[in-house]
Amino acid sequence: MGFWRLFTSILILNLFLSNSLSSAELSEIPTNFLNYAKQPEVVNLMVDARRRIHQNPEVGFEEFETSKLIRNELDKMGIEYKHPIAVTGVVGMIGTGEPPFVAIRADMDALPMQESVEWEHKSKVPGKMHACGHDAHVAMLLGAAKILQDHRQELKGTVVLVFQPPEEGAGGAKKVVEDGILENIDAIFGLHVSVDLPIGSVASRPGALLAGSGSIPQQTIDPILAASNVIVSLQHLVSREADPLDSQVVTVGKFQGGEAFNVIPDSVTIGGTFRAFSTASFMQLKKRIEEVIKAEAAVQRCNATVDFSPDNKISFPVTTNNKVMHKHLENVAGDMLGTENVKDMQPSMGSEDFSFYSEVIPGCFFFLGMANETRAKLASWHSPNFTINEDALPYGAALHASVATRYLLEFESKSHISDRKVHDEL
Ligand SMILES: [Zn+2]
Ligand SMILES: [Zn+2]
Repeated sequence: MGFWRLFTSILILNLFLSNSLSSAELSEIPTNFLNYAKQPEVVNLMVDARRRIHQNPEVGFEEFETSKLIRNELDKMGIEYKHPIAVTGVVGMIGTGEPPFVAIRADMDALPMQESVEWEHKSKVPGKMHACGHDAHVAMLLGAAKILQDHRQELKGTVVLVFQPPEEGAGGAKKVVEDGILENIDAIFGLHVSVDLPIGSVASRPGALLAGSGSIPQQTIDPILAASNVIVSLQHLVSREADPLDSQVVTVGKFQGGEAFNVIPDSVTIGGTFRAFSTASFMQLKKRIEEVIKAEAAVQRCNATVDFSPDNKISFPVTTNNKVMHKHLENVAGDMLGTENVKDMQPSMGSEDFSFYSEVIPGCFFFLGMANETRAKLASWHSPNFTINEDALPYGAALHASVATRYLLEFESKSHISDRKVHDEL
């Protein structure tokens, strides 16, 4: 019995090794893909798509033209897809149609703000702008689709392209998960452009990367004094109750009440956001916010109502990177960019709805550099002066494609998806 088991496992090991690439061959994939992504044909495809999307920005769950543009490009490349997913989303598929399945994701939505940058491809829609770089994210995923489709014979499994509806506040990722898209997928990767990191570099970390976030209490109380006390007490939640090593943020960004300087209003509405790095601290903070508001209102003999999801904004969980997937990103990006250009980052107070994916399956989210020190500093996210350095597009496309291709080669035997389940389910 013992002998046979040993014999069988040696046989399987040999078959597996003869089927797979050497480590030198594996490490060439990322550099080859980067060179491919820098070809004029791929660059033009990305730059053109990005500029068209930038000129016609669409906000949460209204990305109909963006979705159409994506589908047209996938049609041109001969890539199959499913649509609609979560209203405007598109999910494409490249490769064998068999396991393993690895997903790469881009968000599609713009922001409700006016662009201040004067350039040829400025937003044509007043009050709407791509100020977070999601136009570039779509373009890079299309670039990755092109690279992968042109190398589809070499794929040892299936890459799933997830073009998701809104990320900003409305949580398109949550709807994508609810539509069952992740059910057949082994792992997922996503990226966000960064205005601070140098071009040709990436940054990430294993474990908690980005805070979870919630929309704060919108409350109606009477009158202004009670609301002022509430705001002061809410600040004490962070400065006095939170562990200084367990970062939390409570921000009140809205205070509305009163019409005239000498009339006490009937009600005041305040609103804001709160963030924390663990689900436990997040839930504790949420509980205390409600207690503080109600108690402070009662002191002033007011009534307070607390609503944790005003304007349909939903709470995002903490974005946590799986350690094995983070290591995989580090290896692939290191082969492409050099290990010195793969940086560790501190957990950030920003939040991302990629967390809905990495809650369900192993995932890794990372930042892609766009900064060029010989040029002017790039304006920050959500600024009306935000711009994209289009030189970063080939890096994003090649990273998406390489991370996915190498995943299929290196994690081939570990897929939990059975052969039978897969075919038309995507
Ligand atoms: Zn944003
Ligand atoms: Zn963003």
